[in-house]
Amino acid sequence: MKKLIILALLVLPLICRAETMIGRVAVTDPAEITELSRMGFGIYNDELPGLVDLVFDEAGLLVLKEMGYVPTNLTPLPQSFSIDIDPEYHTYEELTDELQALAAQYPDLCRLDSIGHATQFPRTIWCMKLSDNAAVEEDELSLFYLGTHHGSEALGLETTLYMINNFLENYGIDPQITQWMNDYEIFFVPLVNPDGHYAVTSGINEFWRKNARDINQNGIYYEFTGGTWWTDDTEGIDLNRNYNWYWNLGGSSDPWAYNYRGASPFSENELQCIRNLAFAQRFVCGISFHSYGEVIIYPWTFNLEQAPDQDVLDAIGLGLAEAFIKDNGGSYSHQIENGKNGQCRNWFYGFAGALAYCVEVNPYPIFLPPGHELAERTERYAEGAVYLLERLAGPGITGHVTDATTGLPLPARVEIQGRISDQVRPRFAEPQYGRFTRLLNNGTYTVLAGMRGYQTVRIPNIAVNDSMTELEIQLTPVVAHSDNEISQDIVAGAGVRVTQISGNSINFTLELVRPSEVDLTIYNVMGREVAKVSEGYRSAGMHQLTYNASGLASGVYVYLFQGSDFTASGKIVLMK
Ligand SMILES: [Zn+2]
Repeated sequence: MKKLIILALLVLPLICRAETMIGRVAVTDPAEITELSRMGFGIYNDELPGLVDLVFDEAGLLVLKEMGYVPTNLTPLPQSFSIDIDPEYHTYEELTDELQALAAQYPDLCRLDSIGHATQFPRTIWCMKLSDNAAVEEDELSLFYLGTHHGSEALGLETTLYMINNFLENYGIDPQITQWMNDYEIFFVPLVNPDGHYAVTSGINEFWRKNARDINQNGIYYEFTGGTWWTDDTEGIDLNRNYNWYWNLGGSSDPWAYNYRGASPFSENELQCIRNLAFAQRFVCGISFHSYGEVIIYPWTFNLEQAPDQDVLDAIGLGLAEAFIKDNGGSYSHQIENGKNGQCRNWFYGFAGALAYCVEVNPYPIFLPPGHELAERTERYAEGAVYLLERLAGPGITGHVTDATTGLPLPARVEIQGRISDQVRPRFAEPQYGRFTRLLNNGTYTVLAGMRGYQTVRIPNIAVNDSMTELEIQLTPVVAHSDNEISQDIVAGAGVRVTQISGNSINFTLELVRPSEVDLTIYNVMGREVAKVSEGYRSAGMHQLTYNASGLASGVYVYLFQGSDFTASGKIVLMK
């Protein structure tokens, strides 16, 4: 430390004035960011994987270099931002008025819903659906555009609101927009974080990031310590760290940290709204807008283990990057991120089955560009964002799952062989129409479908070539078996059956297409557990198990086979 001080004394006189600046350093471990923050470096932005943009002065620059960092992109801290945000930006009230006016003007083409309210203040979170016959849930593919999880990243709100206006005004005029709205259901939540955005538009703190939860419940809202925004610790929850996806590994557990993940996953109303919308709509894909960096970030590697849809995620990520044009021309960059944190894109992909992208608009290091630039920026960003609508036309596979005897839709599990992972929740057809959809690259695929009470089907050689291949899947109910023979319930990828009962031996065959924790238990007809046959981790494949039933009396029993994402059961009749 002594060395540092001497060094600083030698250098500082050479500098005309102590200048506060922003600089970028590479980090290999997120813990470094926490440590830098603890040392007093302001975290200007850490959304870009492997990088952090810091606020520091000349002395801080020397400390960074002494620590072995190589700060780049040194830029004076922007002084041009007025605490009074430019009037071109929408306030919450202006957003609400505009959405309500559009809903009244275009009742057939849009539906405006309240999907809940913010955590601290009762500001409604608005969801705008655009489609022909918008009031009806039609059998159409859906996608999402989310704006402004982080209060100061207002370009998300402005871009989505521009898109809503543009689509409604040009329906019936622009053939491409007309076709998209006829064929798809396009969902917008322009402002995920109204309380945080309020802090920005009302002049409380133009760099407010989190929501407004009064964590210490002292009745002081938008509380912060320090005196300059970049050293401020603030109350609130980072809404892009509060999703239930490796939540405990992402963000900070310190309530005053700029990236505090909250007390528990989905603790915040704002994200409960997004979660419920996702479960109701089964989005195929979507974008969450953030600032800044001119980069597309998407799910995920786990310590270099790739996502099962990585080829498709990569291809669409590249397509989006090429569709978004930087300020100085040229494409956005694109990158995969380590997926172990509670961020929006990771949860949407891993839990809700949607290919989800974070688009960081604006160049380094700009959160809030001058208001007069908004018109040009939102139009340019919207032109990039519609790439996802183009991509819904394929390549991929879509269709319905129905009951072969009744023709009724089935919410069956539908998977693409080779694209199943413990890290991605099973994909199910939606219940109303039995619709399933998977975006893919060109190729030949095997589709697996099944659900309890139906025979699993495996459909090989499905060719995908540029467009959406239509596939109608019928599932046949499992017919009743005679006792002691094959009695099975199968969910795609897992099954169990009793293969033989002789004397006191009961032989089970288990089948797993992927590794899982399993539990095979026998119950009596009263539902009481009488025997634990097997418990623990099992590899993929077929497993033969023999249970010694000498302790069981003659009678009827039920066995239940459970794994991380399946349940199968059957009946055993023991006659001694
Ligand atoms: Zn952000």
